[in-house]
Amino acid sequence: MPPRPNSVEARDVAHHLHPYTNARRHEEIGPIVMAKGDGVYVEDIDGKRYIEAMAGLWSVAVGFSEQRLVDAAARQMAQLPYYHSFTHKTHAPVVDLAEKLIALAPVPMSKVHFTNSGSEANDLIVKLLRYRSNALGEPARKTIISRLRGYHGVTLASASLTGLPNNHASFDLPGEGVVHTMCPHYWREGEAGESEEAFAARCAAELRATIEARGPETIAAFIAEPVMGAGGVVVPPPTYWAEIKAVLADYPDILFVADEVICGFGRTGEMFGSTYYGLEPDIMTVSKALSSSYLPISAVLMNEKVYGPIAEESARIGTFGHGFTASGHPVAAAVALENLAIIEERGLVANARERGERLQSGLRTLSGHPLVGEVRGIGLIAGVELVTDKEKKIAVQPPGALAAKAFGLIQERGVISRAIGDTLAFCPPLIITDDQIDTVVATVRDGLDALAGEMG
Ligand code: PLP
Repeated sequence: MPPRPNSVEARDVAHHLHPYTNARRHEEIGPIVMAKGDGVYVEDIDGKRYIEAMAGLWSVAVGFSEQRLVDAAARQMAQLPYYHSFTHKTHAPVVDLAEKLIALAPVPMSKVHFTNSGSEANDLIVKLLRYRSNALGEPARKTIISRLRGYHGVTLASASLTGLPNNHASFDLPGEGVVHTMCPHYWREGEAGESEEAFAARCAAELRATIEARGPETIAAFIAEPVMGAGGVVVPPPTYWAEIKAVLADYPDILFVADEVICGFGRTGEMFGSTYYGLEPDIMTVSKALSSSYLPISAVLMNEKVYGPIAEESARIGTFGHGFTASGHPVAAAVALENLAIIEERGLVANARERGERLQSGLRTLSGHPLVGEVRGIGLIAGVELVTDKEKKIAVQPPGALAAKAFGLIQERGVISRAIGDTLAFCPPLIITDDQIDTVVATVRDGLDALAGEMG
């Protein structure tokens, strides 16, 4: 139904080009307008309440009504609403947050640089890698290896790192200097008769072959999410990371970048995805649950091996010629600090682990459903991939149409998930309870039953 004239919906259609939205379809159907949030719930302007089982965009760890974050923002606004950290200036919130992140990091880190989104942080990493290679007198070392279906953002460099066709199509991307290696999704990519271990070994062999084909001296870094999120929630085989680590250990001059934008701060049931898998990144990207997305903030953590040459180069040039007006914004930093305190005080990492077990086992009860191909996930992140032919692992055409329908039916029933291709993704706030998880699972089942019924 087209929106009523002069409604918020109609004015939205008239003036607003939406991210990740089919613009022409939006003109036809208009938006759902959200009005308020409460715990794991959001409510639209018609008073319909939903469980936000995606925590917004994988991000609202502490729920949608955390007064302590509101108060932290208000206090900082009243004290020093804005200042920057260019040219030797600083302020307490940014110092406290940098110190806190280094204390929390799973491996020794040297410095933190603040940015405002995951994309900006990863974009900066591309620049840092160039700067560092030039500082080291290795100008050929500029290529970054990322993975197909990996998601690292949407700015020009980050979108090139992203390994998803919709982020490249018609943007003339990926640009130069990025190579994509295979996605560790055994259920989709494993060959007939291939064990999970053999598949993981094949992924690692492909990484090694890519490095060798390009020349190890041209590769600056390998970037990966410990668990892929926006590529459809891909949990790698249990032996995958050990295999990848073994390859990288043979090339000590190739840095490892862990994109912890989704995994960071508890999502997997450990503080970082790197903790869960025993990874030792040289660089880490964090955002989202850092501030529960109440305000935009992201950060790049780097070890001494990365920082040292960068510091030297800045001294040689006279400045580190990079920075945003809002880098390390004091209000965002104050909110992030309070948010991290809440995650620790309330044991939300443990909650993610414990409630995660219920989410995973609950969703796995759907495995026998005629429309479910695979259920996957760890902690409080999960994917349910839909198919119409279980044997051939295919869904109706066009790709994504099946999950889009399921998503709509589940949303109508009060649970917001996310359709990624034909996978439904779930990534609820870390404060979710067992009862709320049971409601999510029952609602997904109900929506899928309705869809199966509609399809006859
Ligand atoms: N990296 C990962 C792993 C992400 O999931 C995202 C966003 O979903 C990004 C980077 C990009 O972050 P942003 O949307 O804040 O630019």
